[in-house]
Amino acid sequence: ATPMSIISGVGRAAESGVLVRDADALQRASTLDTLVFDKTGTLTEGKPQVVAVETTGGIDAAEAVRLAAALEQGSSHPLARAILEKADTALPQVNNFRTLRGLGVSGEVDGRTLLLGNQALLAENGIDTGALDAQLQAHAAQGATPVLLAVDGQIAALFAVRDPLRADSVSALQRLHRAGYRLVMLTGDNAVTAQAIAREAGIDEVIAGVLPDGKADAIIKLQGQARQVAMIGDGINDAPALAQADVGIAMGGGSDVAIETAAITLMRHSLMGVADALAISKATLRNMK
Ligand code: ADP
Ligand code: MG
Repeated sequence: ATPMSIISGVGRAAESGVLVRDADALQRASTLDTLVFDKTGTLTEGKPQVVAVETTGGIDAAEAVRLAAALEQGSSHPLARAILEKADTALPQVNNFRTLRGLGVSGEVDGRTLLLGNQALLAENGIDTGALDAQLQAHAAQGATPVLLAVDGQIAALFAVRDPLRADSVSALQRLHRAGYRLVMLTGDNAVTAQAIAREAGIDEVIAGVLPDGKADAIIKLQGQARQVAMIGDGINDAPALAQADVGIAMGGGSDVAIETAAITLMRHSLMGVADALAISKATLRNMK
């Protein structure tokens, strides 16, 4: 095991757009068997768009968009951008705005109490979503994320938001599959949407509905099954999982916190970089034996 060959491995990685923090990281990368991917912004483009607005009839679609967009002005979540893009009118003022991490947002507009977010958020507030359940299931089965709006404690509207897979995600994952890795998706999104996207992507296992604080725990669980785990992510909320994994890999263009935490950073925003990084680590360590 010569330090020189490791150094040249780190150099080769850099040439293909993969920044490796230190020799140890390259060594650990050569013995991985399980790759865990964040969904939003890692497998997907991270530029979600509203593809449908369904309402219960209590309010019309334009009013639903106006209220939801007003709330999302206070949020930096990718879903917030999608809903804001849909609004083309002046937005009303929001009082008592709150971000509910991993669930959604809440606030008051025109004296009405609004909740906007996932099924867990509405369930937590005892709101019956039955009036829109059929539409919710149908959109989720197509891989869209359902964002629900409740007005004064009643379900009022559903936004179906689609975030397509990155163009080369499927081929990169196929390459990783052929190399023998088990592929896992880790997401705060709901299980039905996550399964639909996982099927399209060729992912083996889905861990869905994970709150931001639960991502690192999910990695610990996999490690407890004697797996050598890499986490691949782009967001601030991925940082604890990137730190916990045997190797953390940050997507280029992701949050600074993710990049600072990760042992490996991809300069390109493409999963092909993951396949390149792991192939180089294996080739480097093989040469040393
Ligand atoms: P992820 O990045 O994997 O989607 P998050 O923990 O950021 O995970 O969010 C989990 C879920 O919480 C989202 O899929 C969405 O349903 C809901 N959510 C979070 N923030 C918002 C928001 N600002 N507006 C609407 N829904 C939200
Ligand atoms: Mg992400």
